[in-house]
Amino acid sequence: MAPGEGSSFGTRLAKAFRPKASSKLQKRPRPSASASTLAEASGSPQYEIRSPSPIYHKEAVIDSQLGENLDHTALLHSLVYDDEVYDEQQLSRTTGIACHPEDHTLSKIPLPIWDAVLEYLTPFEAASLAFTTKGLLWRLSLRPWQALNHPENHQYKIQFLLTMDGYLPNHLLCFLCASYHYRIHHGSETLKPAATHNPLYKCPKAFDLPFPRTRITPRRNLPFSFVQLVTRAKRYGPAYGIPVESLVRRWKEDHWTHQSQFAIINGHLHMRVSSSCYAEPGLTQSEVRLLLFSRDDYSPYFSACAHWRDGMLMELCKCALSHIPKPADSMGQKVKDKLHQRHYDPRSIVTLCESCRPMRRCPDCPSEYLIELKNMEDRPTNSFKRAISVTRWCDLGDGLTPMSPEWAACNGELGEYDSFGAIGGRAISGMFEAHFTKEHIPGQRILNLNPRAERHSHDDPNWY
Ligand SMILES: [Zn+2]
Ligand SMILES: [Zn+2]
Ligand SMILES: [Zn+2]
Repeated sequence: MAPGEGSSFGTRLAKAFRPKASSKLQKRPRPSASASTLAEASGSPQYEIRSPSPIYHKEAVIDSQLGENLDHTALLHSLVYDDEVYDEQQLSRTTGIACHPEDHTLSKIPLPIWDAVLEYLTPFEAASLAFTTKGLLWRLSLRPWQALNHPENHQYKIQFLLTMDGYLPNHLLCFLCASYHYRIHHGSETLKPAATHNPLYKCPKAFDLPFPRTRITPRRNLPFSFVQLVTRAKRYGPAYGIPVESLVRRWKEDHWTHQSQFAIINGHLHMRVSSSCYAEPGLTQSEVRLLLFSRDDYSPYFSACAHWRDGMLMELCKCALSHIPKPADSMGQKVKDKLHQRHYDPRSIVTLCESCRPMRRCPDCPSEYLIELKNMEDRPTNSFKRAISVTRWCDLGDGLTPMSPEWAACNGELGEYDSFGAIGGRAISGMFEAHFTKEHIPGQRILNLNPRAERHSHDDPNWY
């Protein structure tokens, strides 16, 4: 094998993210002839003033079928650790110029034309263009790749790295660092309560910034890494993540019981969380608040999207609780009930009103809610008790990035999301239930959770 023929996926990337003398992000400045700017290059189109031609490993391990480099460690190391030590080792292992510009017809296109082309491309597109062939990399130089390391190009770097997701089963893309990190519990990653330290990889920014996550209940959340793991496993194969069934949980939090269920439908992770709690008739306003709101953070005990303060969600729960029939508490009431043949039956079916009975959809994110009153068995006393149940179905997006519209909308990070326009006629709840029962669920009327388009701030007492 001639020097340079071993270059491919891994080594090209390793090279791409090696700090260059002219790079803004370099830790130790080094004098270099390659510090030419785009303007200078276009002003004097000579090959010599371009940055050094690509340098490749001689000893790369190549897949005979795909021609891809199997040495993912080298690739990832360079992505994760942007350090000088690695840089020196890398240089000592590499050989000289391995790419001949004359080899490629593209080299006949003058540099100013390439510079003009680059002006029309986003940093992601320019980096992808440089990645297509060695000839193009030589012509465009390493600058499109180095540009990705600039902080303002963070999103473009993520976009570029995502194109490699299907080649890296042992790594997970970290959105804080915009790097792939090695999965330390490969295949045995487990979703744990929010208070448990549960790192999936070693991240240098783990203690500086919060990882993207979505709240399920007050003490449970779903880190985005788990959405990545289950959607990757579905997209590329089991080695890339964990099965979606491994996210399913049943747990208790104070007086509430929760049950979560997950499914990947049309490439998107969907979640259903059913929460229930025994409820007595005739609760006072403060008892209702104690029942619905967690003392930890004054958020609802059940699963709710980021817009729960804005709409009617809490108002509807209070409405549902008010429908629990009360036994007669005075002699006069007892006589009246007897006269009208009204018998108090603690197990009678309670019908909710026009307002709190229908399914509701949050207009600002793909979440649907159903409030019910149920008779549930109280195990210790073997008796039936009334309970309020709140079920939320939501679409958590395709799991590629936390910038996906569904994920961002559920977390209240997307200003403009019209769930009625985006979801259309098919209900999230209907698709989810049909996925499990394998039967067609007839469509039902879904009302707007926030018909008055209210916005309640944290200080506004109306949400409580
Ligand atoms: Zn990281
Ligand atoms: Zn009602
Ligand atoms: Zn919402």
